[in-house]
Formats: sequence, structure tokens, C-alpha cells
Amino acid sequence: MPLIVTGTIGIDTVHTPSGSAERVLGGSCAYFAAAASHLTPVRVVGAVGGDWPADHRHRLESFRGIDLRGLELRPNSTTFAWGGRYFDNMNRRETLFTHLGVLEEPPPNVPAAFSDSQFVFLANTHPGVQLNLLQKFPHRRLAVADTMDLWINIAREDLLRLFKELHGVVLNDEEAMQLTERRNAISAARAILDLGPTFVVVKKGEHGAVLVHRDGNATIPAFPADEKHVVDPTGAGDSFAGGMMGHLAAKAATDFRSIQTALAWGTVMASFTIESFSMDRLHRLDQMQIDKRMADFRAASRVG
Ligand code: AMP
Repeated sequence: MPLIVTGTIGIDTVHTPSGSAERVLGGSCAYFAAAASHLTPVRVVGAVGGDWPADHRHRLESFRGIDLRGLELRPNSTTFAWGGRYFDNMNRRETLFTHLGVLEEPPPNVPAAFSDSQFVFLANTHPGVQLNLLQKFPHRRLAVADTMDLWINIAREDLLRLFKELHGVVLNDEEAMQLTERRNAISAARAILDLGPTFVVVKKGEHGAVLVHRDGNATIPAFPADEKHVVDPTGAGDSFAGGMMGHLAAKAATDFRSIQTALAWGTVMASFTIESFSMDRLHRLDQMQIDKRMADFRAASRVG
């Protein structure tokens, strides 16, 4: 089933305890697409400015499953850019700058060839843009969105309107609690269900994720990564969503059990992303490595 994603395509500058990366390919949409493309073909809708480096384009183009017909180049604009710094244990980060650039302009157009998309992911971007794009997919069977603190702070009303239209929401525990003013991730997730969605996935970093669904609840551990393998956690959340939605679109499934399985695929894809800066690890990934990691993850998370 065609999977479509919109969100940011960014130029990232990242500092972690293992080093720094300047002006590398990043953005919520780019990470999502890179991860999902290993499981199913992905259509990208986004915009970049005249400053977008040619090697970023080549990198995205070189992922076999990514369709860039919905990527708009706006020569007189600037590309979304983000800078972040991670603290010692890599669990926490601070944003150093966010340059919205093209995000302050009208949203990108959806090519007519993409309007039949049934699996829709609205990666992190302004919720007004997410809402606008969602309405371009009248055949949607599964519409899921991610959000983050910036948008909860500056665009809450748009976010609440968006939630009414969604099947699912993916966000991290702090954001879920910030949005709902609850102090526990599960009660925050339940409060989000009251806003409209059928399910919420609350990500808890190195502690995994929780699925709260109208048909039941599930937990999933994170992949047990050794500290020495964690180079840069940037994009882990987007890759998690990419793995999850990639699996669901590949199976054309939307039920609770399938979402539960999809969380494992999300976890596996995120575990690769954090092993390098930018999308380098996702780029040199093959099917055998993915299958091996899934087998390792299943073995590590067996109960009973
Ligand atoms: P994650 O680590 O999964 O939260 O995602 C990090 C990516 O999100 C980076 O590549 C950034 O370019 C991008 N990003 C950072 N802030 C925002 C924002 N406010 N809206 C959309 N994308 C963002």
C-alpha cells in the first residue's frame, strides 16, 4: 500500500558526546522516509530552499524506495535548519536553534499521483500544515501524526483540531504529559484518546514505548544498545515511526495486533539510526542486517 509522509527536510547541526556533524541531511520527513523505505515504497511531500545542498538530494535519491516527486525546490527560500546538543547520557538534548525557513510559507503541493495514498504519516512540522495536508488524502485508511514541544507551545489550537482527524498519534512521554498536563505517561495517553485518535504511541527513549489503543494496551522495550554503539540519537523517533508505518503499509493492516508488531519494526529501524550521524547507517543497511536485528530483538524481549 502506498505510504506517504510529510514533515521537515532539514539541515541539521548536531553535537553529541561522540562528536559533531555540521549541516548534514536531517528532518523528520527525511528520517521517516529513509527508515520506512526499507519496508515499503514511500512518497515524500515536502519543500526545501535554494540553499539545500546537492549532496543531500543525492543521498535521499539513493534510497531505493523513496519517491521524491512531491519534493518542492523553492529557490528564493531557505531550508528548515535545526541545531541540537545532547547531554552526557544522550537521553536528553537541548535545541540550539530552529530556523523555520520554508515552514513559514504555504505548505507544499501534493502531486495528483499521490492523492490515492491510504497510509499517511504527518511527521513533525507545524500542525496547521499537517492538518492542511491530511485533507488532501480522501482515501486515507490510517492517518498518524507526530508532534513535539515547540508545536504544543506555539500551535496548540491547530494541534487539537488535527487530533480530531487522526487515527493515531506518536509522541514522547514528556510531550504527552506537557500536552495533557498529566504526570503519568499512560494517563496522558488516555487523555489524548479523548481528543479523537484511536491509538497513541508514547515513546520513552531508551525505555521503549507504550501503545494505548481503544482495543487494548501493549508495551515494547527498546533495543538493548551498548553505549559505544550510540553515536547520535537524532531521528530515532522519526525512524521508529517510519519502521512502524512502513510495516503497516506493507501489510495493509490497521488493527491493534498489527500495530503491536509494527512497534517492533519501529524499534529495529530506530536502533540503526542512532549508530551514526544523519542517515548514514540507514543508507548502508541491507535486508539481512534488518532481519538479523529483528531476530536478536525478538530473542532479547521474550517473556516466559
Ligand atoms: P527526532 O530526534 O526523531 O525527534 O527528530 C529529529 C529531527 O527532527 C531532526 O533531523 C530535525 O531536523 C527535525 N526537527 C527538529 N525540530 C523540529 C520541529 N520543530 N519540527 C519539525 N522537525 C523538527
